[in-house]
Amino acid sequence: MANPLFDTLFARHAGQDTVFLHLPDGSTMTHDAFLRMTARFAHQIARLGLEPGDRLAVQIAKSPQALAVYAACAQTGVIFLPLNTAYTPAEVSYFLENSGARLFLCDGKAAEALAPIAAKADARLEVMNADGSGSFADAAAGNAEEFDTVSREKDDLAAFLYTSGTTGRSKGAMLTQDNLLSNAQVLTDYWRFTADDVLLHALPIFHTHGLFVATNICLIAGAQMIFYPGFDADAVIRDMPRATSMMGVPTFYTRLLDREDFTADVSRNMRLFISGSAPLLAETHREFEARTGHRILERYGMTETNMNTSNPYDGERRAGTVGFPLPGVELRVCDENGNALPQGEIGTIEVRGPNVFKGYWQMPEKTAEELRKNGFFITGDLGLIDKDGYVTIVGRGKDLIISGGYNIYPKEIELVLDEAPGVLESAVIGVPHPDFGETPVGILARRPEEAPDCDAIMASLTDSLARFKHPRKLVVVDALPRNTMGKVQKNILRDTYKGLFQPE
Ligand code: ATP
Ligand code: MG
Repeated sequence: MANPLFDTLFARHAGQDTVFLHLPDGSTMTHDAFLRMTARFAHQIARLGLEPGDRLAVQIAKSPQALAVYAACAQTGVIFLPLNTAYTPAEVSYFLENSGARLFLCDGKAAEALAPIAAKADARLEVMNADGSGSFADAAAGNAEEFDTVSREKDDLAAFLYTSGTTGRSKGAMLTQDNLLSNAQVLTDYWRFTADDVLLHALPIFHTHGLFVATNICLIAGAQMIFYPGFDADAVIRDMPRATSMMGVPTFYTRLLDREDFTADVSRNMRLFISGSAPLLAETHREFEARTGHRILERYGMTETNMNTSNPYDGERRAGTVGFPLPGVELRVCDENGNALPQGEIGTIEVRGPNVFKGYWQMPEKTAEELRKNGFFITGDLGLIDKDGYVTIVGRGKDLIISGGYNIYPKEIELVLDEAPGVLESAVIGVPHPDFGETPVGILARRPEEAPDCDAIMASLTDSLARFKHPRKLVVVDALPRNTMGKVQKNILRDTYKGLFQPE
């Protein structure tokens, strides 16, 4: 009897009295205590009648209990389906109906609003609160028996993970045991995680980054995690001297840099800072190194494939790039017909390997559009591979601006605007235009202490960008709209400014 996911991540720690989690109240949880909780939950899942292959959806606070539900799903062969805690009942309704979840765990405070939604989707609702109380855990309590792990193959589905919905409606990516394991094993070695590591874990666990990257790596390595409900600069700065590593989105790093008490001394015991999920600004890279002496390691991944590339551990961590394809991952840059382009040319990034998902749940057409028969996944990201093999992401295909027949890559303009005085960061979008089809518009998030001078910025562009790439207009805002993963929501910006050049 084997179950690769459960055996590799969880069963290996059975009976170990070693610390797994450091919790916000200062307490710790050992691997053994975590596994005993997992077994109780596995019994409860089985008692509620779920069979291997059924879906269990959760919308619960980040907690050891939430992770134990993930582990219990692996142990029972049930498909784990974590939902963003920010989703509204209307959004949850789509996910429950789309996934056909049989069981839905939610916080007690939200249960009343969610009960009719779960009933409509034919999902049984049980309560699981942040402190572990609620009907699900209560019914599981007191059961000290071991659970006979359900046998699974590496190609069996382990999780449905919905994409972040940055470019449109979220899609349910079907991930197998092997999708999750192959990647985590490679990354554990690549980033040199061992049982001596203590990871600052402030990411959510409903997303691939915090769940399948951070958590799975720590489980494989036997590393400890300091678990935060969300990113809190005070807490992270306080704990950093006893940690070794951090995984974050770019906003974590800019928020640390905003703090004067974030110093080289605070980070002296750290060996690794990793960033991903959204592009890391060159300025953040530079400032972070100047302040702490650490070069942030940037990597690139997505819900459908986990991680594709990483900057090297030992070699040059090149700012503005996402590094090299990981061992076992094939990455190519192609034209729309899937023909590989020469080095240095911009095209669509395609990825193949054991990390690539099995398709979108109940979206056969979308799956066929994005997964080639030869196994390559068309990521929708535009990028290039330079002469040294480093991969650069220049943006999403959906963000490409075609103006008067010219292709304009927003990132190229954003890099220039980001450096202008008074600009904290920028987003360039294509806005409908009667003469050009589309034209670039720059949205500038201002620095609190200094507003950008748009006329001066426009005048300065002549030196750095060809005329057709100049934004037709610059708009100053206080902040760019971001989703919970810190990604800039260009669809919202496009919608807001779509009428700028329309005749009255
Ligand atoms: P949706 O597919 O629903 O529109 P999404 O693509 O944002 O949402 P995720 O799977 O969470 O959902 O994000 C993956 C995307 O994030 C990648 O396709 C890429 O565009 C972006 N990304 C991840 N890491 C990086 C990085 N280091 N630099 C630039 N972009 C990145
Ligand atoms: Mg995507």
